[in-house]
Amino acid sequence: MLLIKGFPRFRTMFNPNSLRIRLTLGIAAVSILGLTGVVTSISLTMQKILVVTHKNNTRYIAGRFPHDVEIYSDMVSLEEGTQKAIDNLSTPQTLLWVKSPQGNLLAQSPVLKMGIKGTHLVSLQDIPLQPELKLLNNRYWLLCSTDLVVRGVNLGRVYIAQDITADETMFLTLMGTLILVSAIVTVCMTVAIAWYIKTSLKPLKRMSETTKDISAEKLGEVQIELENAPSEVKELAQTLQTTLTRLSDSWEDQRQLVSNVSHELRTPLTVVSGYLQSTLRRGNNLTDIQREALETASSEADRTIQLLQDLLDLARAENGRIYFHLETVVLNELLSEIKGMVAQYPVSIELALPTDSVTVKGDKNRLKQVLLNLIDNGVKYSKSDEPIVIKLEQDERFAKVQVCDQGVGIPLKDQTRIFERFYRVDEARSRNIGGTGLGLSIVKTLVEGMGGTIQVISQLNQGTTFNILLPLS
Ligand code: ADP
Repeated sequence: MLLIKGFPRFRTMFNPNSLRIRLTLGIAAVSILGLTGVVTSISLTMQKILVVTHKNNTRYIAGRFPHDVEIYSDMVSLEEGTQKAIDNLSTPQTLLWVKSPQGNLLAQSPVLKMGIKGTHLVSLQDIPLQPELKLLNNRYWLLCSTDLVVRGVNLGRVYIAQDITADETMFLTLMGTLILVSAIVTVCMTVAIAWYIKTSLKPLKRMSETTKDISAEKLGEVQIELENAPSEVKELAQTLQTTLTRLSDSWEDQRQLVSNVSHELRTPLTVVSGYLQSTLRRGNNLTDIQREALETASSEADRTIQLLQDLLDLARAENGRIYFHLETVVLNELLSEIKGMVAQYPVSIELALPTDSVTVKGDKNRLKQVLLNLIDNGVKYSKSDEPIVIKLEQDERFAKVQVCDQGVGIPLKDQTRIFERFYRVDEARSRNIGGTGLGLSIVKTLVEGMGGTIQVISQLNQGTTFNILLPLS
């Protein structure tokens, strides 16, 4: 697990939740089970056939032996007849010996007599009536015994031992080969199945890669093309394509609506704000309560006009209708100009500029809008005795403008979201301060529209720094 944690690529490849891994493991498991079942049943059947054949042979010898003794003993003595019958039925693999009812050895196969093999068998006590397979001294023996009754006289017991080691070893070697071949077949099958499943799932992966990074603005431009994909996947792609087109249409309608409404409301509200301000300016006979009410109405009207302007800017940016008048801008001069513009702010603004001029390709007015917005936020979220520092640096390719405050800071979990529209960290706190939650999303849109990037670094109750990188001219 530790090993897997350390290798993200390995984790992605062998993610147990992926369909590819699940299908591969599932089919491989079924194949292994199937092959194991076949191998086990083959081995059991072969083992049975092998042992049964030898058992039948042993039984046959046991049944025939008393009869042979009887025939031989017609010609020679009973002892000699017994020995002759043993000699006749013995082979290097088949051993026989006869014991008297008292347990004395009466006759035995020449191999036993010469002590070549199987001598330890003669002393065995509990040899059964029915042939039984035993592993003794690393050899497989089929052992059985039966009473030796000749012409109604019980001469004792005849013991038969069949050495089936050669057959058993051949069988085990065969089984070993079969298991090895099955294992190799399973591995090859699993690799082939994994490859086949990977190939079959490729269209799905292509589909997810095509749709992964679509932004809301590009919904309508996406074309999911899947050549040679299975019909089910093509159907899914078609459905997704239709959904994306519908989403894109409704997104476009929504943007159009926001843009139209903002535009339509801004004009009458600007007129209302103008009337309110002129009434406030000229109304010498207004009571304090009337003045206060008019001031509140005027400031709310201004706030709403700002909100509508922000919405309009965003809608234009998203429609691709925001135009940048790109020119060479000397940032040192622009920042000094901005410092002059915010001189009336309650917080002091400090500039840290390099001696060399830093020039970028950008839209001067949009850059002003961006920086004023960030300074505005710095002022809103800091105390008046905490200055806002604006630093300017440059490296080989980018100019870096930093707007640093020592204010309340932004919690880590909110830092990735503050550039979203209408996102405000602490709604209650932000409401008192004012603002719409649109400022940073406009800032981001404008900076990116000029080919730059913006980042935030912040620590709670320590302060916030916004870093803007702009391409040098
Ligand atoms: P708002 O109009 O609410 O300021 P913005 O988009 O400008 O909207 O900012 C989004 C949120 O990010 C704000 O509500 C505020 O909580 C947080 N924020 C932005 N700038 C700062 C800052 N300099 N210090 C602390 N919080 C900030």
